[in-house]
Amino acid sequence: MGKLTGFKEFDRETEPYRDAMERLVDFKEIYTEHDDRHLATQGARCMDCGVPFCQSDEGCPVYNLIPEWNDLVYQGRWKEALERLHKTNNFPEFTGRVCPAPCEGACVLGVNEPAVTIKNIECAIIDKGFDEGWVVANPPTTRSGKKVAIIGSGPAGLAAAAQLNHAGHEVTVYERDDRIGGLLMYGIPNMKLGKDVVDRRVDLLREEGISFVVSADVGGAGENALAVDQLLKDNDALLLATGATTARDLPIPYRDSDGIYFAMEFLLKNTRSLLNSNLNDGAYISAKDKNVIVIGGGDTGTDCIGTSLRHGCKSLVNFEIMPKPPIDRADDNPWPLWPIIHRVDYGHEEAAQHFGQDPRVYSISGKEFVCDDEGKLLGINTVEVDENFKEIPGTIEFWEADLILISMGFLGPEHYVSKELDLELDGRSNYKASYDEFQTSRAGVFAAGDCRRGQSLVVNAIDEGRLVADRIDQFLID
Ligand SMILES: Cc1cc2nc3c(=O)[nH]c(=O)nc-3n(C[C@H](O)[C@H](O)[C@H](O)COP(=O)(O)OP(=O)(O)OC[C@H]3O[C@@H](n4cnc5c(N)ncnc54)[C@H](O)[C@@H]3O)c2cc1C
Ligand code: SF4
Repeated sequence: MGKLTGFKEFDRETEPYRDAMERLVDFKEIYTEHDDRHLATQGARCMDCGVPFCQSDEGCPVYNLIPEWNDLVYQGRWKEALERLHKTNNFPEFTGRVCPAPCEGACVLGVNEPAVTIKNIECAIIDKGFDEGWVVANPPTTRSGKKVAIIGSGPAGLAAAAQLNHAGHEVTVYERDDRIGGLLMYGIPNMKLGKDVVDRRVDLLREEGISFVVSADVGGAGENALAVDQLLKDNDALLLATGATTARDLPIPYRDSDGIYFAMEFLLKNTRSLLNSNLNDGAYISAKDKNVIVIGGGDTGTDCIGTSLRHGCKSLVNFEIMPKPPIDRADDNPWPLWPIIHRVDYGHEEAAQHFGQDPRVYSISGKEFVCDDEGKLLGINTVEVDENFKEIPGTIEFWEADLILISMGFLGPEHYVSKELDLELDGRSNYKASYDEFQTSRAGVFAAGDCRRGQSLVVNAIDEGRLVADRIDQFLID
């Protein structure tokens, strides 16, 4: 274990982000350099619990061997820590940056002390691995002669590709966008996950033998369309990892006003323009000098806030229909459940520093958008709601806005591929396939990640990618 009395001697101290006002002027990652000595001290806080809840069902979805690498970092044995980390997680550099860390919510220290800084330690191990040149391509030595096509290049598709390739199968990943990575590339913005970090891993996967085809819209109808029948003929198995990309809309009057966008259109265009031209091509939705309202919270809402601030917006408000969560766990939300508490994410901190207050307004719902005679957005009328989302009479309020971003979650996958394949859907319109088997209603066609479970987390997508690869491998060798 870390240090026998470490949890008594040392306080939890997370690695700081770059200063909020400093990082607001660029799209570089918000993180600071890792400090080995500091991390060793934090690793020393781990109690090496008899039942390590951090890696239980309530904790890490990929069952990372957390106490083992906490101890190895405490002892300065970083390379061994890296080996342990890669045993359960193909892409710790992604989760080390963007995971909300359910492991920390379940850490036993959290019963009466702040949890071990597990996520910081994970990120530091893999970053050191890359810095030291320890992470290298490891292609399989033999090939099975079986071929697998994976549709979608998000974390689920990539994790499945990595595992199937290691098992010796010939894997091709098809992606309708112009870059590989799914929401790692075009959802989560650069300041939270650098796109060089995504490309670095994709390059390694390519070196290991995986083929990637971009601008290939499988089952689509446009100029980049690729027939799904052809993929079925050419491959021994097909994996759908297409994500949950149907955005939830806000169908209130004047929704078609000029100036209202889905969050994903805003975020995707921003990252593409940033990568193509450092935002010089103007091919993005600018928030500069605009009064911006972001409707909906979560990671997507926070990323819209962070991006709008970096464009130089004039004002910023974030509507939340839910009431403000408590500062500490409520009685019906005990350890080791995920703590439902008030959190200040990077975008909220930046907005608070820039404008002098947290941008979030709680228990509020949009009633109608307001526009001028030409359809140009002027703002939105809202109403306050109670905890059951019932409108409170007499609380209508007008909020001025030139740009409104709808970030109200996702309804499930788009259905054009599943229609072509005649797949059954579940009650929430996801592709129907059980968590254990990942087999859809059509033999030889599997589904994993957000298209199977609904919008979730990167770590869950990696978990499903690893598991479905195992099922596909069994299917291919049977
Ligand atoms: C803005 C935003 C921020 C987020 N931030 C976080 C975060 O901080 N931490 C976290 O853990 N999770 C976060 N998430 C959730 C996380 O990104 C997803 O849960 C995860 O990426 C799902 O992985 P996936 O592989 O299932 O699908 P995706 O990452 O959605 O990838 C699916 C891919 O399939 C492609 N595709 C779809 N249909 C076709 C087709 N017919 N042909 C070819 N390609 C196709 C899509 O273009 C896409 O690239 C965020 C989500 C969003 C939207
Ligand atoms: S639950 Fe916390 S203290 Fe216990 S082994 Fe896991 S990280 Fe260490």
